[in-house]
Amino acid sequence: MADTEKVSRYRANRAFAVLVFGFALLFGTAVALLAHDQQAVLNAVSRLQQQTVPEIVRYQRVARNLEQMRQEGERIFAIGSAESRQQAMFVVTLAASHPSIIEHPQSAALAREVEKFLSNVHREANENPEALRNNYPDWLNLADRISLQVDDVAVQGVNHTTGDLASVSDLMQTARFKLLGALLLVAGFLLLLIFSLRRYLIDPLQAVDHQLSSLSVERPEPDFSPTPIAEIFSIEDACKRLHASLLENEAARNELENLAHRDELTGLNNRRFFMMRAEIEMNRAHRYERPITVGMADLDFFKRINDTHGHAAGDVVLKRFAQLLSESVRQTDLVGRYGGEEFAFVFPESSVAEAGALAERFRQSFAAQEIRLPNGILVSITLSIGLADGSHCPLEVALRHADDALYEAKRLGRNRVVVANTLPAD
Ligand code: GH3
Ligand code: MG
Ligand code: MG
Repeated sequence: MADTEKVSRYRANRAFAVLVFGFALLFGTAVALLAHDQQAVLNAVSRLQQQTVPEIVRYQRVARNLEQMRQEGERIFAIGSAESRQQAMFVVTLAASHPSIIEHPQSAALAREVEKFLSNVHREANENPEALRNNYPDWLNLADRISLQVDDVAVQGVNHTTGDLASVSDLMQTARFKLLGALLLVAGFLLLLIFSLRRYLIDPLQAVDHQLSSLSVERPEPDFSPTPIAEIFSIEDACKRLHASLLENEAARNELENLAHRDELTGLNNRRFFMMRAEIEMNRAHRYERPITVGMADLDFFKRINDTHGHAAGDVVLKRFAQLLSESVRQTDLVGRYGGEEFAFVFPESSVAEAGALAERFRQSFAAQEIRLPNGILVSITLSIGLADGSHCPLEVALRHADDALYEAKRLGRNRVVVANTLPAD
């Protein structure tokens, strides 16, 4: 008990409040972090919509315009009519001055160069048609450069998109890991909570329940492992106190029973209890037709002990007699103090002959006893015993026969055993 007192205890509601606060803090932090990540993802997606997509469209326009310039250039070299060349030249000029081209420096420089070259070719061709053939190799070079530039622009567009998509994907990945981490934290916390509930609440309550349901005076004091929860400790303590009060009640009950059933001086059954149990034994013997013998015993000249050595000396003799008697009879035999120095017996499962042999042995051994009185003097005392068969008559009748036999023993000179069936029947 002293050891368990040293354990510091917490009230369950406080421990619960701390747990709830801990959980709220943890969960709140996780939610805030997740919300932050979610916002970052949303921002990235919005940037994707507002910047990246228009950017891709712009790259596409640049590529388309460049491609158109190349096609129109081809037409200028392929078509003989000055008018058609004029139209193609017009489209080239339009494409070269398109805002998407102007905003893209590399493409703008190339477009200006192409426009200038084609414009020169167109002008020369108006004067000399041979100019087309003469400039065609240069145009092929330029057309190749345009194609390369178209590829470049397409690659730039793709790179640009890939970078932005990668950053969104990174953000989403991070958010997913954090979400997983938060879920793991919450799961861990819940596991801890379940473990704590089981260990500190459910298990101890089950132990108390078990101890309470098996609480009895036959079992030792309930034993509990130390608990840090104050309320559980109180219940366990109450359980121990309940057990202690059960023991007290049992002791008080035993004492009351002793007072009600025992003779105070000798500790033998008192007359009332003896009669009650004797009645039960007689009924059982009658029901199963078993032999049973009853007896009465009386100390011889006992009054002399009182008169010579005092009442206390008489008490010592009575106690010693009762002690010897209890040690001599079988456990199934029943003995009671019937009156002052008169004692009654019931010998279940014994014929009068068997009981007579037992009584005779006891009479002899008691007569041989020397009893030391409080004044130091040793005395010997004898007793007379009357026995009667109880297997065919009620208890009162059998006791009367035994008493008659006892009277006969006294009459015949005391210190003897007389069996009632030697007497004439009632
Ligand atoms: P007998 O051989 O005829 O039985 O002679 P007795 O002297 O034993 O018979 P009697 O009945 O005349 O005496 C019984 C005495 O026992 C009388 C009484 O004072 C005494 N006595 C009865 N109960 C107690 C007791 O509890 N303590 C003591 N010390 N004496 C008791
Ligand atoms: Mg007597
Ligand atoms: Mg007497």
